[in-house]
Amino acid sequence: MLRSTLLKLADNKNLARWVTSNASTRQMSHRFVAGETLDEAIAATRACNDAGLLVTLDCLGENVCTAADAQKARDIYIQMYERIAKEKLNANVSCKLTQLGLDVSVEFCEGLVLSIAERAANYDSFLRIDMEGSLYTQRTVDLVKRVRSQTPCVGTVIQAYLYRSERDIQDLLAYGCRIRLCKGAYKEPPDVAFPRKSDVDANYTKLMRLLLSSGFYHAIATHDPRMIAATIRYAAENKISKDDLEFQMLYGIRSDLQRMLVRDGYRVRIYVPFGMEWFPYFMRRLAERPANIGFFIRNFFHS
Ligand SMILES: Cc1cc2nc3c(=O)[nH]c(=O)nc-3n(C[C@H](O)[C@H](O)[C@H](O)COP(=O)(O)OP(=O)(O)OC[C@H]3O[C@@H](n4cnc5c(N)ncnc54)[C@H](O)[C@@H]3O)c2cc1C
Repeated sequence: MLRSTLLKLADNKNLARWVTSNASTRQMSHRFVAGETLDEAIAATRACNDAGLLVTLDCLGENVCTAADAQKARDIYIQMYERIAKEKLNANVSCKLTQLGLDVSVEFCEGLVLSIAERAANYDSFLRIDMEGSLYTQRTVDLVKRVRSQTPCVGTVIQAYLYRSERDIQDLLAYGCRIRLCKGAYKEPPDVAFPRKSDVDANYTKLMRLLLSSGFYHAIATHDPRMIAATIRYAAENKISKDDLEFQMLYGIRSDLQRMLVRDGYRVRIYVPFGMEWFPYFMRRLAERPANIGFFIRNFFHS
């Protein structure tokens, strides 16, 4: 119930305006967001690299409704690759299609994604297309396949809570696509997504096995120690090397687990988000763990 309310509020533009312009809440967002500028994100990336963690950088923003805003987002993504290369950081980039104009037109969005992917290829890097709400799933899968046929350094994300995900994985694997597996962070109706956490977890394990057995390099994105243990166990049983997969976690969440996996010789990549449009991302993080709300309320009244 609380999760559902928080996810609904994530789309409230008036609340977003108030929260992102308030000094106390801006300060609190730093728990999950590296900062509002690329410089701050680069500093956070360096700190991660120094701790043995890889990074994927994301400039926050979604559902832009003008071509000009999408172009602006595209320019920032190009700049990100340039800074990563110039500063010799071990990082790649993640983006959202609705930030690159998917709601404006699929063709327009595809052109922008292709230009970013070409820049990624020039730098021998990688572009991950995040997965958004289920209204966008088919368009995302189709666009990723088309862009990959021209520039293969592109991968995407599959959400274990969707009933359709096994089919999408089979479809994408036929194109050699690298996949990040996550549980899924949006508000979805019961006719498209498993309502029960136990079913999402069971599907996560099933899909993880499918990915690890595919022979391609995938990312297991979760903070759930049970999913991580199941992955490690399955990899060991099937002689899949630590270099053939990576774990991924979000900036500011379970740093202890991140460090433990690095110490045990696993690759761990941290999703480092930055930018002014942090409100929906922030709300999704609260929804994942409502206990976070108490922490934020206490900080708000003490600041
Ligand atoms: C690298 C990465 C990229 C992602 N990309 C996408 C994407 O493209 N599309 C998408 O829909 N979702 C994405 N997600 C979010 C994902 O779908 C989940 O919502 C999120 O990871 C929480 O699920 P979990 O696997 O950690 O398991 P859960 O069962 O939700 O949590 C397991 C444990 O992790 C810890 N934890 C989880 N979330 C939080 C939090 N917010 N604050 C504090 N502790 C927490 C808690 O200890 C919790 O008990 C991504 C996640 C990661 C790690």
